[in-house]
Amino acid sequence: MTGNSDLIARWDAAVMPTYATPPLALLRGEGAHVWDADGMRYVDLIAGIAVSILGHAHPAVVAAVTRQVATLAHTSNLTVNEPSVALAERLRDLTGDPGGRVFLANSGTEANEAALKCVRRARPGRRRMVAAQGGFHGRTLGSLSLTGQPAKRAPFEPLPGPVDFVPYGDVDALRAAVTTDVAGVFLEAVQGEAGVLPASPGYLEAARAACDDAGALLVLDEIQGGIGRAGSWFSHQVIAPGLRPDIVTLAKGLGGGLPIGACIALPPVAGALRRGDHGSTFGGNPVACAAALAVLDTVRADGLLGRSTVLGGRLADGIRGVDHPLLAGIRGLGLWRAVVLAAPVAPAVEAALRAAGFLVNAVAPDALRLAPPLVIDAADLDAFVGALPSALDVASATLVPISPAPMEET
Ligand SMILES: *Cc1c(COP(=O)(O)O)cnc(C)c1O
Repeated sequence: MTGNSDLIARWDAAVMPTYATPPLALLRGEGAHVWDADGMRYVDLIAGIAVSILGHAHPAVVAAVTRQVATLAHTSNLTVNEPSVALAERLRDLTGDPGGRVFLANSGTEANEAALKCVRRARPGRRRMVAAQGGFHGRTLGSLSLTGQPAKRAPFEPLPGPVDFVPYGDVDALRAAVTTDVAGVFLEAVQGEAGVLPASPGYLEAARAACDDAGALLVLDEIQGGIGRAGSWFSHQVIAPGLRPDIVTLAKGLGGGLPIGACIALPPVAGALRRGDHGSTFGGNPVACAAALAVLDTVRADGLLGRSTVLGGRLADGIRGVDHPLLAGIRGLGLWRAVVLAAPVAPAVEAALRAAGFLVNAVAPDALRLAPPLVIDAADLDAFVGALPSALDVASATLVPISPAPMEET
C-alpha cells in the first residue's frame, strides 16, 4: 500500500508542475465521503471542483457506465450512438426550446471553444467579444482569451480577440462596452473561480438587453453553475428567471465525475456551426453520455434541485450562526457557497479543516469555496459547521499578532 507522501513525491517527479503540489492523494469515495491514501476519511465539501454532483460511486452512475463500457465504449462521430442522441435531446429539452441544438465535447473549456466558434459563425464580420473581469472560461487559447484574469492570460498573449473585460456587475460599463461591433458577451451568472460571486439583481437582464440592442449574442457559461449546483438546472434561472440566453455551456456536474462538456445553442444560433466547422473524436462518447443521462435522471427522480436549495440554505444559516472574528460572511446559492474570511487566511483554514476531516477549497486568499455533492446529508453539513470555529482558531494562530508583545520586566 502506498501512502499520501509516496504518491505526492511520485506526482512531483512525473507530472508537469502546472498545479500546486496537492496535499493528499484520494483512493476511493462513497456518497459525500472520500478516503485518502493513509486511510483517513473526509467529508467532501468540494466534490472535485463542483463535479461529483451525485457524490462518489453513485449506484446510478456506476450501473450506467458499467453497462455502457461493456456494450460499446466508443464510436466516433462517423456513426450515431444512442446515448449521445438521448443526451442531446435531454439537454435541448432543459432549455425549453425544441429548436435548440447541442454540441458534445469533453470538458468545460471545449464547450466554450464551441460556443466561441458558434458566435464567430453567427456574427461574421464582428470580432469583438465582451467578458467580465474575474471571470473564468477555461485554459485553451480561445476560452483563455475570454478569461478575465490577467495572470492566466499574460504568458500566452497574443490571444484571439479583441476581448473587452468589464467590471462584473456594473450595468453601465456593460452597456457601454456592448457596441454594434460586438459579436458576443460571455458571462457566468455566478462567478465560480472568482469566489462564488452571484451576479447582482438585474445584471443578467441588462446583459440581455444590451446584446439585443447591439445585435450581439449572449453566452452564459454554466459549466460550474449548471445541473443543480445553485438549486436549478442552470444558475441563471435562480438569479434571472425567464432569461433566455443564446448559448449555454455545461460541463463539470453534467457527467457526475466522467469528463464531458456541452454547448447548447438556441435559435437562431442553433444552426450557426455548419458541416465541417467543428469536431471532436471523443465528443459524444457513449460512456460519458450514459453517465450524464444517469445524472440527469437521478437529479430529477431524487428531487436534488430542491435539495440543493434547502440544504444550501441550512448550510448558510449554520455558518451565519457561527460567531468568530475571522468570519466575515457567506455568499452564494444552493450548495454552492463561499465562506468569506476577515483576513487572507483561507489556505490555513482549508488546511485546518482538512486535518479535521473536511475538504474545502481556498478559492481566494479570503474565501473558502464549498460545492459538496447534492446528495450530502444534513448531518455532514452540520458537522462541518460545528468544526468551523476551531479551524478558524487554528488559522487565527497563524496571524501575526497586531498588539506589541508585552515589555519584559527588568
Ligand atoms: C471549470 C470551468 C471552466 C473550464 O472547465 P474545464 O473542464 O476545466 O476545461 C470553464 N468555465 C467555468 C465557469 C468553469 O468553472
